[in-house]
Amino acid sequence: MNVVVVGSGIAGLTAALHAAEAGHRVTLATKGALGDGCTGYAQGGVAGVYGPHDSAEQHAADTITAGAGLSDVDAVEVLVRGAADRIAELITRGVAFDRDVDGRLLLGHEAAHSHARIVHAGGDATGTAISRVLVASVRGGSRIGVVEHAMLIDLIVAGDTVRGIRLLVDGVIDVLDADAVILATGGAGCLYAHTTNPEGTTGDGIAAAIRAGAAVSDLEFVQFHPTVLSMGSPFLISEAVRGEGATLVDDAGRRFVFDTHPDGELAPRDVVSRAIARRAAEQGAPVRLDATMLGAGRLSRRFPTIDRVTRERGLDWSTRPVPITPAAHYLMGGVQTDLDGRTTLRGLYAVGEVARTGVHGANRLASNSLLEGAVFGARAASALGDPWREWQAAAPPRQVAAPVAAHASFERAALQHLMWDRVGLLRDTHGLETTLGTVRAWAAAATTPTTVCEHEDANLLLLAEATASAALSRVDPVGAHYREPAPAPLLEAV
Ligand SMILES: Cc1cc2nc3c(=O)[nH]c(=O)nc-3n(C[C@H](O)[C@H](O)[C@H](O)COP(=O)(O)OP(=O)(O)OC[C@H]3O[C@@H](n4cnc5c(N)ncnc54)[C@H](O)[C@@H]3O)c2cc1C
Repeated sequence: MNVVVVGSGIAGLTAALHAAEAGHRVTLATKGALGDGCTGYAQGGVAGVYGPHDSAEQHAADTITAGAGLSDVDAVEVLVRGAADRIAELITRGVAFDRDVDGRLLLGHEAAHSHARIVHAGGDATGTAISRVLVASVRGGSRIGVVEHAMLIDLIVAGDTVRGIRLLVDGVIDVLDADAVILATGGAGCLYAHTTNPEGTTGDGIAAAIRAGAAVSDLEFVQFHPTVLSMGSPFLISEAVRGEGATLVDDAGRRFVFDTHPDGELAPRDVVSRAIARRAAEQGAPVRLDATMLGAGRLSRRFPTIDRVTRERGLDWSTRPVPITPAAHYLMGGVQTDLDGRTTLRGLYAVGEVARTGVHGANRLASNSLLEGAVFGARAASALGDPWREWQAAAPPRQVAAPVAAHASFERAALQHLMWDRVGLLRDTHGLETTLGTVRAWAAAATTPTTVCEHEDANLLLLAEATASAALSRVDPVGAHYREPAPAPLLEAV
């Protein structure tokens, strides 16, 4: 079978390797250099069950609780049961996860996990370690054809079947025919003014899937990471730092998160992020992460990357709390798939952050996304040989009359600030409606994109419209989607 994989994070690399190992002819196309994307930025690690008192059932329960009960239970089961094999595979391929002196995997603790179960590498450099190993496996004799600096523009659909992709390479549109396409293009953090995601995380795969008529859902569920250094460009300070004991303090040095949740700093991410945003607004200054109790030696050993970056920015986090802010981090929604990555379009699979497998519900449990990319990347590859199986999507495909093209009518930064202010951590009906009006006016005045940047803008605009309208449709706050309650209707005077 001729298989095209789009994207080279953990999901795309895993899918490509498994598909090639199963004997398929695989071409991997990716927007930047091989291995670009969020994967290399991941710090905390990969969730798995290793502790003596831990179990897959408890990992599943934590995942479902974090997802505010909206997770698909079957998908969660697949995820947690797949962890041991996929982590073992990464080890076999060469990822050196951190171990104690007796050779046992060291397990980190992160928010909303009932047990320490996060395997990590290089202290806080897990994503880099995984990416390096998978990229080396693809380059080293896997017989996978690699096309770098090639941007997916659109899926080629004939009837109800995906037949290939259109790519922009060196300013020219190229076509790759395929019997199956595996989308692994990651999320859409660049929709927001503040994000942990690298440039280029512009939701291209989701936008292309919408244009092709695939079902997408849960786009209103955007996770905002609570602790991003607010000095210099956004730099994530892993949840594992709070897992080790760091606290969040306001200007008066008070731990304020306990005011909203009994788990304090280790409450689910959306709760902590909103508490930070509110406290920062009240005091008119950023709140701070206090890791001083961990001491200089432990901080530099356990979190070498964060330690280096904070010091490069003139901060000594071992002696003084550092200023932080929430930032857009992860998209729970995406292209709807079944348990093997099949989308609602025949021949199209989606894996990793681009997909909505149902695992995360309304909010993702920390360190479940690298795991999801590995587990579902491998499953989609092994399903390639099976006859296509139709399945019923939870939400119907969105009707998009024509590809939304957008250039010249808006600045990307204006869109990102609009999304941050109105479709971010705290939403209300008025903000969502005015955002939709603005975005639709920008789209109506748009011209046809030609460059990579213009195509990214077009995709961001399409996703902004889809996200704001999904957020408007979901009236009740749940998980990462928070709507201010509508004002009570005025009682008529009698
Ligand atoms: C700072 C940070 C820290 C994180 N820490 C953790 C953690 O500790 N544990 C955890 O589980 N998760 C973590 N996450 C989340 C996790 O890293 C991502 O969800 C995961 O890596 C997504 O993998 P992916 O393969 O789906 O996408 P990505 O790794 O984002 O890869 C997407 C790929 O698609 C390519 N692409 C995009 N658009 C196109 C296009 N149009 N054409 C061609 N190619 C395209 C990109 O170039 C890239 O190669 C973190 C994320 C960030 C940003």
